[in-house]
Amino acid sequence: MAEHEGLEFGKADFVLLDQVTMDAFMANMKLRFERGRIYTYIGEVVVSVNPYRSMELYGKEMIDFYRGRELYERPPHLYAIADAAYKAMKRRAKDTCIVISGESGSGKTEASKYIMQYIAAITNPTQRQEVERVKNILLKSNCLLEAFGNAKTNRNDNSSRFGKYMDINFDFKGDPTGGHISNYLLEKSRVLKQQPGERNFHSFYQLLCGASEEQLNSFHLQRDPAFYTFTRDGVTLNNFPISDKSSYKAVLDSMKVIGFRPEEMDSVYRILAAILHLGNLGFDTDGDSVIINNEELVPHIAQLTHCPAHCVMKTLLYRMVATGGGDVIEKGHNLKEASYARDACAKAFYERLFCWIVGRINSVIEVKNYDARIHGKNTVIGVLDIYGFEIFDNNSFEQFCINYCNEKLQQLFIELILRQEQDEYQREGIEWQHIDYFNNQIIVDLVEQPHKGIISILDEACLTVGEVTDTIFLESMNTKLCKHPHYTSRKLSPTDKSMAFNRDFRIKHYAGFVTYSVEGFLDKNKDTLFQDFKRLMYNSKDPVLRDMWPDGQLSISEVTKRPLTAATLFKNSMISLVDNLACKEPYYVRCIKPNDQKAPHLFDEQRCRHQVEYLGLLENVRVRRAGFAYRQPYERFLLRYKMTCEYTWPNHLMDSDMEAAKALIDHHRFEDDVAYGRTKVFIRTPQTLFSLEEERAELM
Ligand code: ADP
Ligand code: MG
Repeated sequence: MAEHEGLEFGKADFVLLDQVTMDAFMANMKLRFERGRIYTYIGEVVVSVNPYRSMELYGKEMIDFYRGRELYERPPHLYAIADAAYKAMKRRAKDTCIVISGESGSGKTEASKYIMQYIAAITNPTQRQEVERVKNILLKSNCLLEAFGNAKTNRNDNSSRFGKYMDINFDFKGDPTGGHISNYLLEKSRVLKQQPGERNFHSFYQLLCGASEEQLNSFHLQRDPAFYTFTRDGVTLNNFPISDKSSYKAVLDSMKVIGFRPEEMDSVYRILAAILHLGNLGFDTDGDSVIINNEELVPHIAQLTHCPAHCVMKTLLYRMVATGGGDVIEKGHNLKEASYARDACAKAFYERLFCWIVGRINSVIEVKNYDARIHGKNTVIGVLDIYGFEIFDNNSFEQFCINYCNEKLQQLFIELILRQEQDEYQREGIEWQHIDYFNNQIIVDLVEQPHKGIISILDEACLTVGEVTDTIFLESMNTKLCKHPHYTSRKLSPTDKSMAFNRDFRIKHYAGFVTYSVEGFLDKNKDTLFQDFKRLMYNSKDPVLRDMWPDGQLSISEVTKRPLTAATLFKNSMISLVDNLACKEPYYVRCIKPNDQKAPHLFDEQRCRHQVEYLGLLENVRVRRAGFAYRQPYERFLLRYKMTCEYTWPNHLMDSDMEAAKALIDHHRFEDDVAYGRTKVFIRTPQTLFSLEEERAELM
């Protein structure tokens, strides 16, 4: 039970609610939020409500307040969870992970940063230089990744547009010696176009606002973002709280600390500049052939990418195709193909740049020391900050992938939370009774099952030769999935007017219904980028660019195998992510977004209730309570309550702490509510604990 908090702040753990109902849950959450208590536990899960204002909850003093304490000794906090994960890792040599989930703007990324700060603050007491270096890079990597991977959206001014999983490696002393970052599904379509009210990735504006005149001139750039197709729409949004100009400096500084060489930093910004120019390229027809409207941009792009201008020109207008007879011929793009290719280039450029940056960070924090890996004890804490469930007015391929990801994580949550309980009871030799829980495996299967799942059907449509349209893909799903309880479409439910014929399908996700439009599914899944462009980049004189395009080595006649589709790549990365998390001891942070106005002090009850519902938090409380709400090692239990019983105060004379605990429990007549494990006492209902606490308080 969290100390230092009176009942006026509500229950610090939802498990302590008198009744487990949605109303009671919501009332407690609201009360705590209004009293500035943004964190509440469900056992070892932290529920966090975004305060949208700065709270005096962080920093050195707070870190010291939590350091080395047990979860229930202090009010709920991210620091306590970080400490618990760290302790488990250090004391029991367990790999642990902290999974942070919640919808966009609920505070995941901020939470992950506080967790990192905490871990950085409590480690390396002896100030070893190499450890400091690694810590510094881990902390600085955020700034760089946010510049290139975050954007202002309608939901969040600093929204991460990629999923991130970071492993931190620790040596036997418990100090960080390295790490590894994995990134998932960057929203690269944002490079081309943004929703009204949103911006492109921060990096573009930072370059334009922050670079010197001289640098802009050498890139042939104008300072005004309104000059560029890709940044034009987001330009009037000067309400972004962080200055792009000062961020630019901070990003350069981060790159330096991480160890980017000056020429690498130059390459990064040259590529950004090239993308901006690429976006301004227009095409037209001249008789039968396609021409570039503003040819003067081509030499700029060539210069920035260190490629010959005539090659750039050619790649924009032609491609090589292998004929049936094994020959290779040159084929001119038509107007549509030319702009499609340009857009594909711009997206691919940015995505590869982002992945290269991640790889570059990894290269300097990888655990290199061979000895440390082989002989030393090397344990890991993983931190996952990944996009939450998304339901927009118009949901497309990206939302489909993101929501599938959340189904996978929910599946993992169910498995781990149940498994963890089950394991503990087994270890302690206590009987366990099964709890009903909605199992979303059926939805995961709907998406990922080989041959039958939506991704397979989509891939099949993409592989079919000839004119296959998104509508044909929809037809194919309608045929194959018509009996599936979680799939429907207008054709299958003709009376449901909220779906459009030949365009929409709907999945009943664990978090609710989502209607997806199939428009663009095939294109986005194929993610075609002509080999000519890859080859052009591979032959660039810039080693950084060459490094980004290893697949450009192949000539067209060598490219026989189709690359994996976007959905399949994503599916594979999700499966390996889940495998990786499943073998670690998990800690959860469940983030709640209190309102859609980004406003402090505003608790939109309906919005919150919906999130509590789909995160399954109430079920989480039930599972936690149906088992034993509290468990404590005998020694700790006695330390806290021994003064409430004459047989244990001031010290017991029994053979074991377990027997002493039994005597204490019997003395209070709580025996029906308690079970005795090998090392811990298990208490079923919170009331028992209340009574003990009350008695203790009276005696103190
Ligand atoms: P997510 O990653 O879930 O999309 P963020 O972590 O980026 O959300 O948070 C969105 C915004 O909410 C932040 O930019 C910040 O303004 C505010 N915020 C989030 N967590 C906190 C917190 N603990 N204290 C104060 N403000 C916060
Ligand atoms: Mg985020």
